[in-house]
Amino acid sequence: MTADPSSLPPIEVDVALDRLIATADVVAERPPVEASIRDDSILGAVLAAPILADRDHPPFDRATMDGYALRARDAKRPLIVAGSVAAGTPPPAEVADGACVAIATGAAVPPGLDAVVEHESTDRRDPLTIHLDQVASGRNIHPKSVDARAGDTLLAAGTRIDHIARGVAVAAGAAIGAGTILVRSRPRVSIVTTGDEVRPIDDPLDGPEDAVRIRNSNGSLLASLLTDRTTFGAILSPPTHAADDAQATAEALDAAAASADLVITVGGVSAGMLDLVPTHWENRGWSALIRGVRMQPGRPFSLWRSPDATTIAIGLPGNPVSAFACTQIFVRSWIRASLGLDPDPGWWRLPLVDPVRRNPGRPVFRPATIVMDASGRPVIRIPTWQGSGDLPHLAGTEGLARIDPGGDDQPAGSMVDFLPHHDFGRAAMGHKPTDASGAVVT
Ligand code: AMP
Ligand code: MG
Repeated sequence: MTADPSSLPPIEVDVALDRLIATADVVAERPPVEASIRDDSILGAVLAAPILADRDHPPFDRATMDGYALRARDAKRPLIVAGSVAAGTPPPAEVADGACVAIATGAAVPPGLDAVVEHESTDRRDPLTIHLDQVASGRNIHPKSVDARAGDTLLAAGTRIDHIARGVAVAAGAAIGAGTILVRSRPRVSIVTTGDEVRPIDDPLDGPEDAVRIRNSNGSLLASLLTDRTTFGAILSPPTHAADDAQATAEALDAAAASADLVITVGGVSAGMLDLVPTHWENRGWSALIRGVRMQPGRPFSLWRSPDATTIAIGLPGNPVSAFACTQIFVRSWIRASLGLDPDPGWWRLPLVDPVRRNPGRPVFRPATIVMDASGRPVIRIPTWQGSGDLPHLAGTEGLARIDPGGDDQPAGSMVDFLPHHDFGRAAMGHKPTDASGAVVT
């Protein structure tokens, strides 16, 4: 048994994040697994080894326009059209001086020819006349190997496979080679929702006692977030639900912990009479690492670790916006760390369009939208809310804005940290932002 968890004081968000991320090595240190680039489940996986080009890119001098391939120096005289080259067809080994060939976009330029003149700049006859004052060598040709040479790294280890990375991997030959690629192990997550008032999503709630019950919106919301492959990417067991009773809680949490690296509970973690989750982990000898964070919403956020340190449990508050915010701020970073990515999902800094009420003692995380100001610049608008139970106001928002603590309003025009709900751009790929010279911006 560990010390009474309620004796742990609430901590700052950054301290909580550090404490949480330090537990991700449970997954991050696991050996990589083989996966096939042909398999859709590859999306969201993180490369454990680089993907190298198996051939030059492009593999041949490629015509980039439909037209005629010729010697640039011949462009001033009428040219015999000595044949044609279609895409995917080998070009003639030789084209005589004073001749050209009709060529399609994507076809290989015959050896010795160094320019492609597009149809529109010719009379399309035979012999061919070109209506240009001059034709530069290399015109409309994408030369062999300019993009990459065989053996070059096309995707570095640590790249998260999104749709584009998958396409690049296929171009690099990842699908042939050994037939498989090495990716990092994904975290296995179980979700357990709690509460006697919380009913299955298909319950019509038309019974005599149903006026005071609600549907299990958190279970669905969190399950779809955690399986979003390019922002989270967990392997999720089917979510389960526990009634507010010690026996039901014990059965659900033990079952969840048996097959997961991370158990996420929703609700039952505050100071209420029927908040049975902390007591259960304590009874099992798990250590409480976090019991409360100085933030709004999300104050009850909690973290425990199993005695053998192979499993962790996160306790999310039950209020829907609290559960959502904690998932974005904490769970997302833990999953990134467990995949070997930079735990920081990539916060932006953007100006507020309207003043916002601060909390005197805690940072406030508010769902927010990006709108354009009169000059077309992106600014943050924070919709009014009825508190952390107000799930409907989350619809249509694009991220969470962090409002620093203070006694007055956070003024219009001041900059706030903003975390988009979905991974975006280079941050999503595990890269740090860089400036124009390519240096990492810290
Ligand atoms: P709790 O943390 O269990 O006290 O729950 C806080 C609030 O969130 C209560 O109003 C609950 O009814 C609500 N809540 C808890 N779990 C869920 C859920 N899975 N879906 C929707 N609301 C929930
Ligand atoms: Mg409850």
